[in-house]
Amino acid sequence: MELIKAQKGTQDILPGQSENWQVVEDVMRSEAALHGFGEIRTPVFEDTRLFQRSVGETTDVVQKEMYTFQDKGGRSITLRPEGTAGVVRALLEHALYNNGLPVKLHYFTTCYRYENTQAGRLREFHQFGVEMFGSNSPSADAEVIGLAKSVFDRLGIKNLRLEINSIGCPTCRAEFHKALKAYFTQYKDQLCETCQGRLERNPMRILDCKSPICSKIAEGAPKILDYLCDDCKAHFEAVQKYLTAVGTEFTVNPTIVRGLDYYTNTVFEFISGDLGAQSTLCGGGRYNGLVEEMGGQPMPGLGFAMGIERLMMVMDKQNIEMPAPDRCEIFIASLGEAAHLEAFKLADSLRKYSIIAACDENDRGLKAQMKYADKIGAKYSMVLGDDEIASQKAVLKNMKTGEKKTIDLSKDFVEQYVCLSTEQEDLAF
Ligand code: ATP
Ligand code: MG
Repeated sequence: MELIKAQKGTQDILPGQSENWQVVEDVMRSEAALHGFGEIRTPVFEDTRLFQRSVGETTDVVQKEMYTFQDKGGRSITLRPEGTAGVVRALLEHALYNNGLPVKLHYFTTCYRYENTQAGRLREFHQFGVEMFGSNSPSADAEVIGLAKSVFDRLGIKNLRLEINSIGCPTCRAEFHKALKAYFTQYKDQLCETCQGRLERNPMRILDCKSPICSKIAEGAPKILDYLCDDCKAHFEAVQKYLTAVGTEFTVNPTIVRGLDYYTNTVFEFISGDLGAQSTLCGGGRYNGLVEEMGGQPMPGLGFAMGIERLMMVMDKQNIEMPAPDRCEIFIASLGEAAHLEAFKLADSLRKYSIIAACDENDRGLKAQMKYADKIGAKYSMVLGDDEIASQKAVLKNMKTGEKKTIDLSKDFVEQYVCLSTEQEDLAF
C-alpha cells in the first residue's frame, strides 16, 4: 500500500527535537509571565471575514496565502494565517478590556499560509506572540520590544539586529500614500502584476513586495519618516528614548512596513545575520486602528509574533547548546510472567516518585531487553526472573560503570534505589 506523506510545507517535530522546542517555549512562557502577559488560546479556524478585515484585502496573506474553504454548513472558514486577529476577536467577544488596562496576552499558535515553501518558509509554522491593548504610551512599545529581546538574550542568540520604523497614523500616511503613488506611477509598467493592483488601493504594500524588480524600484521611493505628523514623530522619538534607557540597541530602517495592513506608528523586526532570505525572526508593531476596525471602541494595541521554526534554525546554526533531554533512569528487565508483573509494579512505583522507569513490553529475551535499555540510555538496569522472585534478591547495575548492588525486594524498592543511585552519583562527582 502507498505510504501517505506529510503535506508540502509541513513538518513533524520528533522526540530529540521536541525537547529543544520545550526549552525554547519555557523561556518564552517565563518572559511572558515576567512581563505580565497571560496566555490566550484561540481556535485554529475562524470566519474568513475576520482575516480579510484585520490583515487587509491587499496583503499577500489575504490575496494569495490563506487556507480558505467552505464547511458543510456553507460558511467560509479560514485556518488562521496569523495570531493577532483571533486575539482581537476574543478581546471583544469576552470584553477582556473590562478587567483593567492594559490587557496583556501571549500565545503559542500554529499558522497556515499557502506559501512557496523553502527553508524558513512553511505552510504550517509556529509562532510565539504577544499583544497589549489599551496603552498608547511609547514605553509600552519599548516593553513589547524588550520582551522579544529578553527571549533572544536568554536563549543566547547572537548576531541579531533590531530595526525599527514608524509608519505613522492614517492622517500623516495619507500624504505619504499620495507621494508613493506619484513615485510608483512613473514605473507602473515595470511593477509586477500584483503591485500594479496595489498602486491604486494600497501603494505602501509595494514597499513590502518580494519581487526583485519591485524591491529595486522601491529603494528610491519617498520615505515615511519625512511625512510623519508632529504627534507621530514625538511618539517615535520617545520609543527610541525608552529603548536607549534600558540599553537596547536598534537601527532606524525607514523601509520596514511589515506584511500586514493593521500596523500604525511603530513597526519593528528582529533580523538574524545567520539566515538567508528568510531572516526575520520576529516582527511586530502598533495597530492603533485595529480594535475599532474589528467593531470595538477605539483602543490602541501593539504586539509581535516570533517564528519558532526560524528561531530554531538560528539556534542550530549558532550551535547553541541545549540541556540534554531527560532519559530513562532505570530499566527493569524480566523473564517469565511472574517477574514481568513484578517489574511492571516496580516501574509504576518509581514513576510515582518522578523517577523515569521502563520495563519490557515486548516479551523479548534478556539480550534484546538489555539492548533496548542501552538504546534508551537507561542509567541503571535490573533483571528479574524466577530466581529473583523466589529469593527476593535482585541486582541493580550501573550501566556505565558496571557497578552492581544487591536489592532486597521484600523491602521498599524506591527507597533502596534512591539511596544507591544517589551514592553513586555522589561518587561520580
Ligand atoms: P516574511 O516577510 O518573511 O514573509 P511576514 O511579514 O509574512 O514574514 P509575519 O506575518 O509578521 O511575517 O510573521 C511573524 C514571523 O513569523 C516572521 O517574522 C517569521 O519569523 C514567521 N513566519 C512568517 N511566515 C512564515 C512561514 N511561512 N514559515 C515560517 N515562519 C514564518
Ligand atoms: Mg509573509
